[in-house]
Amino acid sequence: MTEAEKTNLLGKTREEMEAFFLSLGEKKYRAHQMLKWIYIHQVDDFELMTDVGKALREKLRQVAEIRPPEILHEGISRDGTRKWVFKVDGGGAVETVFIPDGRRGTLCVSSQVGCSVDCSFCSTGKQGFQRDLSSAEIIGQVWLASRSFGPRTNLGQHPITNVVMMGMGEPLLNFVNVVRAMKLMKEDLAYGISKKRITLSTSGVVPMIDKLSDELDVSLAISLHAPNDELRNQLVPLNRKYPLADLLAACKRYSEKIPHKHKSITMEYVMLKGINDKPEHARQLVKLMRNLPVKVNLIPFNPFPHAGYERSERNDILAFHKHLNDNGLLTTIRTTRGDDIDAACGQLVGDVVDRTRRSERWRKEVFLRDSDDNDRTAAEV
Ligand code: SAH
Ligand code: SF4
Repeated sequence: MTEAEKTNLLGKTREEMEAFFLSLGEKKYRAHQMLKWIYIHQVDDFELMTDVGKALREKLRQVAEIRPPEILHEGISRDGTRKWVFKVDGGGAVETVFIPDGRRGTLCVSSQVGCSVDCSFCSTGKQGFQRDLSSAEIIGQVWLASRSFGPRTNLGQHPITNVVMMGMGEPLLNFVNVVRAMKLMKEDLAYGISKKRITLSTSGVVPMIDKLSDELDVSLAISLHAPNDELRNQLVPLNRKYPLADLLAACKRYSEKIPHKHKSITMEYVMLKGINDKPEHARQLVKLMRNLPVKVNLIPFNPFPHAGYERSERNDILAFHKHLNDNGLLTTIRTTRGDDIDAACGQLVGDVVDRTRRSERWRKEVFLRDSDDNDRTAAEV
């Protein structure tokens, strides 16, 4: 059997792992041992699995492997933010970002190579869509980042406390693999991260929001960015297919289905100078969000070459923030992190060239720190 034909055990959910071991004529508990070896002990070599007998180890070596993506580049920002660029099968690269913040550590994970949604202000969108990541490539980002922090078992609290699907790609357009990877993030035999500390961010694939609520009850973030259809059609082209009324109805259904108390949905709103940051937009947004269980996270736009947009003025962001909060809409401003290594929102393009020059050009700017625990789950990337 060639390497390519071997089954990659990384990315298999508990049920899939059980089915795999049953197919080898082994008992179910072997699957549970394997999950612990892979995710808790962070081992990728069957020979190190001391409670697996020699014959089974040999059998596994012949038919299976534990293969994470390959790291092409690693960067650490002045503010402690880390970024990894991973090589993916078939060419291309994706990026993963870790943002430490006190006792919280948020890992921002990619779901696709490129993205087909093509939002006008996003550098990932500009590179077009190449392909979906496999569940091994998605959970493999968590695995490699986690392993880089050392053994999980020796630490009181592991540095990765939160995961956000806010890297490259539209997670709901790679539904099956993203759900498999998120199940492993939640799984006690793997990462055991609580559902309220796992966030999926979407540009608004309405039917998949409903489907997600059938499978998982993780936190949801919506890339809203505009308070009316006309403007949103320009910024997020997917809005032409799923307009605001449909999107907000889906949000309502999602939050009604989520049993836990952290059911409020985060509305992400990128602040683009002169485009969506005027007082009239703030007024429209307050109206639009009325009676919805939401909070708003304002994201100062992160520039990239030939973006064609500028970040809103600080005073305009503060005024927008104040108007929303004064009118009962809980709103925070996302701190820009890691932009000296191009790790900020919308700067993820999966390339490793030209990095230093750009890093020097873009000064780090820190706005208000938000103190709402749940909101920061939605990552200050
Ligand atoms: N595709 C998903 C998740 C990845 S994008 C989505 O769109 O929700 C993660 C967040 O970064 C989204 O809210 C996105 O709109 C925002 N973003 C994209 N480009 C940005 C930029 N240049 N500056 C600031 N935020 C950006
Ligand atoms: Fe894709 Fe999200 Fe970027 Fe839009 S903002 S192009 S959905 S990655």
